[in-house]
Amino acid sequence: RREEMPGKDSVKVAVRVRPFNKRERDAGSRCIVTMSSTSTTIQDPRNQQARRTFTFDYAYWSHSGFARDKDGLYVPEEPGSRYADQGHVFQDLGQGILENALQGYNATLLAYGQTGSGKSYSMVGYGPNKGLVPTLCERLFQAVGTDQDNRQCQIFFSMLEIYNEQVVDLLSRGSGSHPLGGLKVREEQQRGFYVEGLRRVPCESSAQVGQLMEQGTRTRTTASTHMNASSSRSHMLIILQLKQIFSKENITKQSNINLVDLAGSERQRSPGAEADRLKEGTAINLSLTTLGNVISSLADVAVGKRVVHIPYRDSILTKLLQSALGGNSRTVMIAALSPADICYEESMSTLRYAERAK
Ligand code: ADP
Repeated sequence: RREEMPGKDSVKVAVRVRPFNKRERDAGSRCIVTMSSTSTTIQDPRNQQARRTFTFDYAYWSHSGFARDKDGLYVPEEPGSRYADQGHVFQDLGQGILENALQGYNATLLAYGQTGSGKSYSMVGYGPNKGLVPTLCERLFQAVGTDQDNRQCQIFFSMLEIYNEQVVDLLSRGSGSHPLGGLKVREEQQRGFYVEGLRRVPCESSAQVGQLMEQGTRTRTTASTHMNASSSRSHMLIILQLKQIFSKENITKQSNINLVDLAGSERQRSPGAEADRLKEGTAINLSLTTLGNVISSLADVAVGKRVVHIPYRDSILTKLLQSALGGNSRTVMIAALSPADICYEESMSTLRYAERAK
């Protein structure tokens, strides 16, 4: 396993604000988020004077032209705030991951935020608005399809869900009847942590990956229905594995790209004293909390602070991401936000979480 220190740029953070949704518009919500260049400012709706500005690597504004509220104006789009469509976001965040992978390094791309804030929009996309994962796959197949007769490439696709600290294989036909999956996470000296028996499908085209993603998404919905739960409470992880064999030099480069749509970050409300729900809440928070601790430790290492222990082992998610967080890996986190005053608490907590990665 690679043990190099992470470089200064090993963790990048982007904030992306989605447009208002119908519920927010119907409620007459105000826009409390403004962006300018790389800074994002959020205003406390109960106190006009209270605002906080956070600076991250990127700030993406997603809308324009809905500037009116009942008193006149929503907080207007600031000059310099950057309207970013899916193409921009890929160019900034996906392209580097692709190039890194072709060089043989691992990468992790994470989407964090409350349910409905735009995580899936950024990661997977909807309809013609393709997100990072499909575009990354297209470009990856383009890149391996061209050039270099001396190189042979193989691409493998896996898709899993972590729910309640349990792993469900979203590509296995068995997981419908065994909704909790119960696949074991094991550790090997060379390989690090891995899911025993996880399906790993060799792929020839991005269309094939698209079909597998659809299949996995269907299984995810079925599994959550079985478990009487919402899929927003589980983490979805796609692993794209690229193997490049350079026959002349007799070198094999292998890189994993992990694409993670995290569970909704909203606090888990526990109706009554329902034991299952409480357990679930704790388990989901365990992976999110541990991830926050790991990324924050890595950010400390990157700026030269002495870090004694990085708590990878504390949750299933961080175990599985270990080989693709830190070292020469590239980590990108997208913090997804609603622009509305009614989401202030959750948006603030998302920004605070993202801040720990710096
Ligand atoms: P999450 O995955 O966080 O639960 P979604 O990605 O499903 O949230 O987003 C909720 C809704 O907002 C969807 O209808 C989606 O199309 C829309 N949306 C999210 N982000 C954007 C964006 N950047 N631009 C336009 N629409 C967006």
